[in-house]
Amino acid sequence: MTDISHKITQIKEWLAAYDGPDISIMEVCGSHTAAISKYGISGLLSEKLHLISGPGCPVCVTPTGYIDRLIELSMESDTTIVTFGDLIRVPGRKNSLAEVKGEGARVEMVYSPMDILSLAKANPKNQYVFAAVGFETTTPVYAMLLEQLISEHITNVKLLTALKTMPEVIGWLCEHTEEIDGFLAPGHVAAVTGSDLFIPLCEKYRVPFCVAGFSAEELLLAVYGIFKAVVDDREKGLKPEVKNYYPSVVTARGNETAAGLVNRYFESCDAVWRGIGTISGSGRKLRKEFEQFDAGSDLPMEDHKKNQACRCDQILMGKALPGDCPLFGTVCTPMNPQGACMVSEEGSCHQYLMYHRTR
Ligand code: SF4
Repeated sequence: MTDISHKITQIKEWLAAYDGPDISIMEVCGSHTAAISKYGISGLLSEKLHLISGPGCPVCVTPTGYIDRLIELSMESDTTIVTFGDLIRVPGRKNSLAEVKGEGARVEMVYSPMDILSLAKANPKNQYVFAAVGFETTTPVYAMLLEQLISEHITNVKLLTALKTMPEVIGWLCEHTEEIDGFLAPGHVAAVTGSDLFIPLCEKYRVPFCVAGFSAEELLLAVYGIFKAVVDDREKGLKPEVKNYYPSVVTARGNETAAGLVNRYFESCDAVWRGIGTISGSGRKLRKEFEQFDAGSDLPMEDHKKNQACRCDQILMGKALPGDCPLFGTVCTPMNPQGACMVSEEGSCHQYLMYHRTR
């Protein structure tokens, strides 16, 4: 047996045998939620260890008011909404973009924000609005798009922004829930921001963070690392720390070029999170000097449930599991989603249903 396979065997044995006080760790990254399901990691844990999914899927945290605003714009005669595929099926207050597209609204699906450039150049009399959702990982791409629009003098593209930032929502969770003992920190976000992003939160709320990668091995090491950190902090009275279990990609300070590009075009703003409400300073909006590229992102953004029984809000806060929702897998399925957590492939409800997860 090699050293690494011996270590992994030991880790699996520790995770399965743990019998101390309950520990709950939140992952705040949709890709981690999907990878944990895919690799069956929650099935390796003792009944006392809990992985809970937080607000880390950008589509899942987008409020219904944002979808409704996209739908309004898509009904204007000269405007086309351009978006990623999963956002098309997210329910607004009454409909999704996919439903209104069937009624004549103009909606295009793309794989990258940069794809809007060829659409705009081919149809200069039409207006294009990109549905700009995402976290720190995606915002640099929107900044690159703006660079391109300006350098090519393209004037028929705007962004409707619902961009979010991680530290503020993690801080909000620490202040409003008692269930979270530590965080599996998002590797993609940390690649841009650096792992130091989490140090102020770690110190203020006295919870450990482990930045995790996405392969089965990387995730398993980080999951073990964060549970063990909680145990050691409790037993030995150690100060919680931020540890980087994804050093091949994440540095302490991150990608400063990307951060500079984002700061050139965007500034901090309050943001509405689906099911949670407004969190101060948790979003990014276009700076005033670039407002000609804004499609009305500052308009009031409400959040209403399509189906009152949907428990997305509780799930995003780590207060409920998908199986606690009475609609899970019956009324609400990927083909007929009642809430955003069932739409995105990174959404908790979608993942729990596809992989028959119960915990
Ligand atoms: Fe909402 Fe559907 Fe999840 Fe229930 S199963 S919480 S209705 S997304």
